[in-house]
Amino acid sequence: MYGVLKISMEKQKELYSGKAKSVYTTDDAQKYILLFRNDTSAFDGKKVEQLDRKGMVNNKFNAFIMEKLEQAGIETHFEKLLSDNETLVKKLDMMPIECVVRNITAGSICRRLGVEEGLDMEPPTFEFFLKNDELGDPMINEYHIKSFGWAEAEHVERMKVLTFQVNTVLKDLFLESGMLLVDHKLEFGLYEGRVILGDEFTPDGCRLWDKETRKKLDKDRFRQGLGDVVESYEEVGRRLGIHFDA
Ligand code: ADP
Ligand code: UDP
Repeated sequence: MYGVLKISMEKQKELYSGKAKSVYTTDDAQKYILLFRNDTSAFDGKKVEQLDRKGMVNNKFNAFIMEKLEQAGIETHFEKLLSDNETLVKKLDMMPIECVVRNITAGSICRRLGVEEGLDMEPPTFEFFLKNDELGDPMINEYHIKSFGWAEAEHVERMKVLTFQVNTVLKDLFLESGMLLVDHKLEFGLYEGRVILGDEFTPDGCRLWDKETRKKLDKDRFRQGLGDVVESYEEVGRRLGIHFDA
């Protein structure tokens, strides 16, 4: 109706549907809405399942972590929680690159280099991957990024610095609650010319182990068919002090 002030942010057009989230335009050309779905995928989309409550749990988990990062002075795309499954974010010009930092060996580094799982990495190791589902996200280096123009040299430097900063902040946060941050993946985008974090941070995109028992509390429970996937994500959240129910 003419003259009515619109106070709520509504989803408009679905721009993109990823493996676990969908991205929508909004009334504001500078903002997107991320919808966290229950879909869970692994092995380049070869294993896909719907896990009850996962969208809600990851949405709230992500909001909690983004606020911690902002408090630590790390700029992110997060604006605010809109509902159980929706978050408002700044629209970024994403770079097609995944930044992975590893504090302890697990996953692909063990397969690639033949090292056993669970070795401390001091200093933590950093790897770039190209975000390309058809190619299975191959590992790349800084020269590939610069030579193919996937990102500018100064942005590459900034992504590395920010990834290590996030790692330092979150490693401590999880350790205080009895968990080890084994590794994690981050993606970045440009906003008003600045490189800022444009990704979720949830147990879908990192590895977390109980400090004492080394029990896996992250998406490896899904990848390896260990069960209690969402229950473990909630357990991590509860230890951090996140309340999932309204
Ligand atoms: P994937 O692309 O790995 O399947 P998701 O299911 O998480 O990932 O889908 C989210 C998609 O939304 C990704 O392609 C990501 O680059 C994009 N995206 C996330 N946040 C933003 C943002 N703030 N601005 C623009 N694009 C974003
Ligand atoms: N990761 C992710 N999305 C990807 C690839 C990796 O979130 O497309 C995360 C993964 O959950 C882990 C870290 O990045 O926390 C390192 O993943 P790795 O290279 O070991 O690959 P994986 O064996 O997990 O496929």
